[in-house]
Amino acid sequence: MARFSGAQWRPIPVNFTRGGQDSVHGVVVHIMDGSLSGTDSWFRNSAAQASSHFGTGKDGSLYQWVDTADRAWAQADGNRTWLSVENEGRGGDSLTDAQLNRNAQVLAWAHSVYGVPLQVTNDPNGNGLGWHGMGGSAWGGHTSCPGSAVRAQLSEIVRRAQVIVSGSSGALEPFPGAQWFKNNPVSPIVTAMGKRLVAEGCSAYASGPGPRWTEADRLSYAKWQRKRGFTGADADGWPGKTTWDALRVPHN
Ligand SMILES: [Zn+2]
Repeated sequence: MARFSGAQWRPIPVNFTRGGQDSVHGVVVHIMDGSLSGTDSWFRNSAAQASSHFGTGKDGSLYQWVDTADRAWAQADGNRTWLSVENEGRGGDSLTDAQLNRNAQVLAWAHSVYGVPLQVTNDPNGNGLGWHGMGGSAWGGHTSCPGSAVRAQLSEIVRRAQVIVSGSSGALEPFPGAQWFKNNPVSPIVTAMGKRLVAEGCSAYASGPGPRWTEADRLSYAKWQRKRGFTGADADGWPGKTTWDALRVPHN
């Protein structure tokens, strides 16, 4: 069960698949082409055959309709692996400042719970903050959702999520440790670490620099550590605090 405490929990009785969320690659932004109250009613009607995990109002209201352990019906083939946010407004509208903050809160929450990287993506097989139309026909062919005005705001949502995650001071997060790293192989910290290691001459970082620390990356990094005289747990291919501090990796 996963609910965002910052949202009003407004469960719907129909239009979702219980326990159907396979994994979470990121958060998909939509535009309702309607109002929050109208969408709230529509998602309760079994004729809709549609829902989303979250919804915002122009006034900054934030609803959660579907638990994120369950699959909302928002973007067809993208439902199994993406969370969804519907936003009050018409096609062509920009999101209000309050809506930008609410989308950023959802993204920051998804980052902390699922390790979703704080980045914009246009790839249905990628990770981060995406948008409905990027999935093309497999995602229902809604190429104009959420529209170019909202798409132009996605990087601002990411920026605000980074501020939330790093704290209002803007200070960098302390490195959470090797164990956290093992449990969260997909995160912006991984991306930052990978880029830094490549700059330091770690030859492979095979799949990146990207948001995922793969087994190939681990083996390559272990080799790099041994070459520099590290042994034992300091040469296991998992970046630890020593590496983190030595490289002064920024990750926002
Ligand atoms: Zn949509």
